[in-house]
Amino acid sequence: MKRVVVLGGGIGGLVTAYNVAKKLHPEEGEVVMIDRTGYHLFMPSLPWVAMGIREPRDIMRPLKILEKKRIKVLVDEVKLIKPEEHLVATNTTKLNYDYLVVSLGSIPREDLIPSNDPNVCTPWTTDGAMNCRKLLRNFKKGTILITPVSWPYKCPPAPFEVAFLTKYLMDQRGATDVKVKVAHFWKVPMEPFGPVIQEGFKKMLDQIGIEFVGGVQVEKFENGTLYTKSGEKIKYDMAIAVPPHLPPEPIIESGLSNPQAFNFMKVDKKSLKLPGYDNVYGIGDVVAPSLNLGMGGVFAHFQGEHVASAIVDDIRGSYVGDDYNKGGLCIADLGYMGTVAYCDFTKRIYQGTFPDCVMLGGGKALRVLKFAFEKFWLTKFF
Ligand SMILES: Cc1cc2nc3c(=O)[nH]c(=O)nc-3n(C[C@H](O)[C@H](O)[C@H](O)COP(=O)(O)OP(=O)(O)OC[C@H]3O[C@@H](n4cnc5c(N)ncnc54)[C@H](O)[C@@H]3O)c2cc1C
Repeated sequence: MKRVVVLGGGIGGLVTAYNVAKKLHPEEGEVVMIDRTGYHLFMPSLPWVAMGIREPRDIMRPLKILEKKRIKVLVDEVKLIKPEEHLVATNTTKLNYDYLVVSLGSIPREDLIPSNDPNVCTPWTTDGAMNCRKLLRNFKKGTILITPVSWPYKCPPAPFEVAFLTKYLMDQRGATDVKVKVAHFWKVPMEPFGPVIQEGFKKMLDQIGIEFVGGVQVEKFENGTLYTKSGEKIKYDMAIAVPPHLPPEPIIESGLSNPQAFNFMKVDKKSLKLPGYDNVYGIGDVVAPSLNLGMGGVFAHFQGEHVASAIVDDIRGSYVGDDYNKGGLCIADLGYMGTVAYCDFTKRIYQGTFPDCVMLGGGKALRVLKFAFEKFWLTKFF
């Protein structure tokens, strides 16, 4: 009887635990998931919370529901991982494992946004999204600036999605005196994704009338001015910031960080195993910087499916040799249109070069895809 412990009940943890529990017979093993919030939050819908299209409760599900699917759920804070002892320590207990999957994500730190300006908000958390909603509701005229503070952050295209939705919302309200602007440290929109996606985004920004300012390194937000590290000043009336993202504390405390990857978890690029340990995997945001990837739910999803199969195969002594899916599909709701982009990130992971991408289109009808995907997600697992 083996014990598979999954740390985190976000996208990667959910997919892994669900698939291991589904495949394993009860006499073969058990699955234990540990998450400190006790809730799964479907973050791709956070921009809709900011726009008033969703309430936070609409995109959250209690993880305890998973107990019906033979997943033991522990609502607790992971403090330490000791791979040499096959042990995880939480706030209240110590747990041994035969296989460990770390999917603790990345931690958006609103408190590290260099600002004390009440007109700056962030939809990267639920509270932050509700604050953005309040500011947007009262916004009538002026410039709304959308800008990430630093790399890495969850969902590289999301600041653009937020900008498009904001423009759409303002236009629907007839607020024609509102200008929406994206200021980014990239020199061109979607810079690391290569020419196809860069051109696609540039075209959509032009079409909808959103200005892009590149090469902006944020120093601070103060009294309606964004000060950049190179001494420029960009005026705004409201700013939507992407906060700095830090590695989860247990990764640092347990000595599992990769200094070449902003101290996120180290991992073998091919097997997704913690180097030196055959029974410890890292997936999703927590390893994205070590894989040269942006932080996306789609990566956590495919990696979770792969790791679940690898663990079940290993328990059964069957062949383990498959590679994980390195594709990334981005489905975005831009208000005036939906868009779908697909990239194969194999070259990005191994050579650090542009991924191979196609833009599968833009058009109002494609908006429905994001709504359909959200529905699929929240009904498939819960
Ligand atoms: C605004 C926004 C829009 C996005 N849009 C998209 C999109 O359109 N498409 C897409 O693919 N991705 C999108 N993403 C990114 C996507 O949500 C993440 O990449 C994905 O959730 C990562 O999954 P994960 O399992 O690695 O981490 P998470 O989903 O963050 O899960 C980590 C879990 O670990 C738990 N945890 C953390 N630390 C501890 C601890 N010490 N003890 C116990 N539990 C802990 C957390 O509570 C959390 O439940 C978006 C994200 C945001 C913020």
